[in-house]
Amino acid sequence: MAEIIDGNAIADEIKTEIIAETEKLKAKGLAPGIATLLVGEDFGSKMYRGQVEKNCALVGFNYIERTVPAETTEEQVIEIVKELNADPAVSGILPLRPYPEHISDSAVIRNIREDKDIDCFHPANMGRLLLGEPTLAPATPSACIELLDRVGVDFEGAEIVVVGHSNIVGKPVAMLALNRNATISVTHIFTSQAGNLAKHTTGADILIVAAGKAGLVTADLVKEGAVVIDVGINRVKVLDDEGNPVLNDKGKPKTKTVGDVDFDNVKDKAKAITPVPGGVGAVTNMMLLKNALTAAKMQAGM
Ligand code: NAP
Repeated sequence: MAEIIDGNAIADEIKTEIIAETEKLKAKGLAPGIATLLVGEDFGSKMYRGQVEKNCALVGFNYIERTVPAETTEEQVIEIVKELNADPAVSGILPLRPYPEHISDSAVIRNIREDKDIDCFHPANMGRLLLGEPTLAPATPSACIELLDRVGVDFEGAEIVVVGHSNIVGKPVAMLALNRNATISVTHIFTSQAGNLAKHTTGADILIVAAGKAGLVTADLVKEGAVVIDVGINRVKVLDDEGNPVLNDKGKPKTKTVGDVDFDNVKDKAKAITPVPGGVGAVTNMMLLKNALTAAKMQAGM
């Protein structure tokens, strides 16, 4: 039976460290702050915004909310970004995507000051990551590395396989691990379609899964004794023993959150595994705050 890596407990440890460092900065007259920028009414973005606001309050950061209607033009949104760039109360800017179709993600991101880009999507920050000189690293990939560090994984020479090659998770986590001298394979939908997924994953000492497909990684895809980091977040129906949906009080199917890994079966084979929920997600929230702290220090020339 694998060690279940407790993301909530690790997030709590990081939170305590952030609070201590924030107090030290405040004593020097420096108050970190995060600004969210939402265009429109996307439900998921509003949920995330609420989470960021709550987390800022927990660690003593300023929180600045900018929300504008979906009809706002790209030029107007970029003007707001420039205002936030110039605002000394804002250490980090978090654009809450998806944006309405008439607003280009990359136009917004390219206008964020590089040292306020706490999501690390600016091409300059992505480039620094590739060069092995990251100043701000993206939160979810950093959370994966932090979790592995805190369970004592040795990266040097480790065989790490990443499932998923998105710009948000798969590619940057592969780069962060490569920068730590691991041997990296990045797999994706075409690996699966070519029937080669198991060939790679079964060789992994560390398997990082970010595909957004519930149950994709079954026990036969995992090497005995591997460390498994499950980034996926999927809502699925709760089923009874016969495979029928369980209904709630209103007669609608009950749902639950699961990762991309078949947790119940893989946990018997892995050395350590992150659960969903209670794994990567909790730590991701803290890594975003850590980035804001780093950004505040960079802006103060520390
Ligand atoms: P994404 O942009 O949809 O990327 C998913 C990646 O998985 C793509 O590279 C895709 O390949 C690949 N993929 C899809 N099906 C596959 C299969 N059957 N076999 C192998 N590869 C497959 O998603 P994302 O933004 O990276 O997020 C991935 C998951 O992590 C989602 O569930 C998301 O909700 C979750 N997430 C969690 C956190 C957190 O903090 N815990 C943060 C961000 C994301 P193609 O592009 O070639 O189709």
